[in-house]
Amino acid sequence: MSTSYNKGTAAVWAGEGNVNTKGAATTPIVNSVAFSYTDLDEWYDVSKGNKEGYIYSRNTNPTVAALEEKIRVLEDAEAATSFATGMAAISNSLFTFLTAGKKVVSIKDLYGGSSKLFLDFLPKYNIDVELCDTTDYDALEAAIAKGCDVLYLETPTNPTLKIVDIERLSKAAKAVGAVVMVDNTFATPINQNPLQLGADLVLHSATKFLNGHSDAMGGLLAGKKELVQKVFQFREINGASLQADPAYMIARGMKTLELRIERQNASALKIAQYLKAHNKVSDVFYPGLETHKGHDIAKKQMRGFGGMMSFSLKDGWSAVKKFLPSLKLAHLAASLGSVSTLAGPPRTTSHVELTEEQRAHLGIPEGLIRYSVGIENVNDLLNDIEAGLKNI
Ligand SMILES: *Cc1c(COP(=O)(O)O)cnc(C)c1O
Repeated sequence: MSTSYNKGTAAVWAGEGNVNTKGAATTPIVNSVAFSYTDLDEWYDVSKGNKEGYIYSRNTNPTVAALEEKIRVLEDAEAATSFATGMAAISNSLFTFLTAGKKVVSIKDLYGGSSKLFLDFLPKYNIDVELCDTTDYDALEAAIAKGCDVLYLETPTNPTLKIVDIERLSKAAKAVGAVVMVDNTFATPINQNPLQLGADLVLHSATKFLNGHSDAMGGLLAGKKELVQKVFQFREINGASLQADPAYMIARGMKTLELRIERQNASALKIAQYLKAHNKVSDVFYPGLETHKGHDIAKKQMRGFGGMMSFSLKDGWSAVKKFLPSLKLAHLAASLGSVSTLAGPPRTTSHVELTEEQRAHLGIPEGLIRYSVGIENVNDLLNDIEAGLKNI
């Protein structure tokens, strides 16, 4: 720009608009709230949605759009959109299709936040919620057949890694015209593509494996164009939009998604097999083990069994209190899906809101440990676990 402007003016305008994104080897972070036009007719056309372009970043933003395109392609979907967090993706999707008098069928083993939405919030809006025992197909199919508007699934589930047959339940839901949503956070599109199994919408907490580095939050949704568009229209008005900075972090993380997931799949299987054979461990929940109840369905619908597992110690909570703090290669923290291993007891993390009886009903023993395998060398992780078990 011309140097004839005053400093105050130059500070605002100099350099702006000079970012030539063409040829940039990575997507630039476009932290602009609004996008300017010199042609008023073009501005109007873009605003009306009749021409491609950007108006305001609560609606769409070039960096965020680049991330949406990544998940759209990875989930093999017609369209995709994004949210500030995974819970925003879930609540926006549910509230788009559920209004007073409508019904949602889901499972009992859900992510804690989703479970709270179903139990505490949706009923306040006179939405009928029916949560079935997770692998009770007779109960699920009967609930669906009575008529429902949304079937909401999560597989593998948190924290006991139960597996739900997406294809079978999608068929039942289609017969009554319900929208099928699947939370694919644990599997990621590397291991599982729910849309190819009959789901209409696939949701992600991008905070977990997609970002993969525990340093940005986001939510993503992909699926049928007409349905994604409806959720997008609700999100742009309620305002739970993803910003350019975390979108860049997530997109950057996703560039190594396949490398990370392949490593985590392989390490998790080795660790699960080791734990299964250990005399201080009572149960190991990992869908890659042949003894896992959902192993056959997992083999049918997943390409890999993921980096998440849980296991219980024979001596219960007192053993957990000795074991967990002695781990040197695990953050004892609530999240999952990072490059570093994370571990924690569901009684403190995902299921802290429930009573001991409610946890027992879901098959979550007090001595259960959820273990999110990182990308460290698996031999070091095995040695770390072995030392921890010796400490009990
Ligand atoms: C973490 C998580 C969520 C919620 O995502 P946030 O980004 O924390 O809002 C939803 N579903 C599953 C399975 C999760 O693990």
